Amino acid sequence: MTDAVTSPSPAGAAVPRDVLITEIFSAIQGEGALVGERQVFVRLTGCNIRCNYCDQPEALERRPGPCRIEQTPGSRDWIETTSPLAMEDVMEAVARLWDHTPHHSISLTGGEPLLQGSRLERLAGLMTERGWPVMVETNGTLVPALRRAAPGLTYVSMDIKLPSVDGELVAPTTQSRFLAQALASGLTTWVKIVISADTDVDEFDAAIDLVAQASSDMPEAVEVFLQPLSAFGAATAVPSPTQVLELQARALNRHPRVRVIPQTHKAIGQL
Ligand code: SF4
Repeated sequence: MTDAVTSPSPAGAAVPRDVLITEIFSAIQGEGALVGERQVFVRLTGCNIRCNYCDQPEALERRPGPCRIEQTPGSRDWIETTSPLAMEDVMEAVARLWDHTPHHSISLTGGEPLLQGSRLERLAGLMTERGWPVMVETNGTLVPALRRAAPGLTYVSMDIKLPSVDGELVAPTTQSRFLAQALASGLTTWVKIVISADTDVDEFDAAIDLVAQASSDMPEAVEVFLQPLSAFGAATAVPSPTQVLELQARALNRHPRVRVIPQTHKAIGQL
């Protein structure tokens, strides 16, 4: 692995040459609009919030650490190494998986991938230059980073966070600006909302209204995916079927495109 951090650009600005990565592997997308598609997942390290249902606790601290890279798609034949990785090593690892098996796209996930803003911008740009469609899975809080990375992206899978479910206090105004930025950047965008037995209906209604308002001139363009909580660690408040039915009905009265999809990768026992 190449040991590098940044180098000067012709304009004098530092060009990031490495990125904090937890793992790179090939898998079936289990959530949202691309559910069922084969993707190469690049999991960036670090997140700016702490949801109490998070199933990636090892990816939350933005610091160097262990990293694993799958060698053959779906085989989980990991090579263990150390993060950060040089950009060219990330590209080489992705290419090995992509060239072995046809993939739909790359998922830049985390953690919160936009937390490494300039690095993600460069990485997504390199991937787009190679002709790989790039999706970012994001908590929808880092608006300037999305604006800068947008030229390298095709898809945005954005969470809207409900304090009654995730225990965080993400500002709705920030999430509204994030969604507006994604749409203004011309990116194919959808919204995911995790729902639980503890979902506050006023918060929920406000979240759907936020989507409806941001997409008022093209409401069909933004689909909302309600994702029933998967039990993990201390997160056990799985919603009842009745609650899920009621929440979808409430949402459909506010926005035309609302689907319910649980985490299907967990249903098939996939990583
Ligand atoms: S935003 Fe995602 S990665 Fe960050 S704590 Fe929440 S669930 Fe985990």
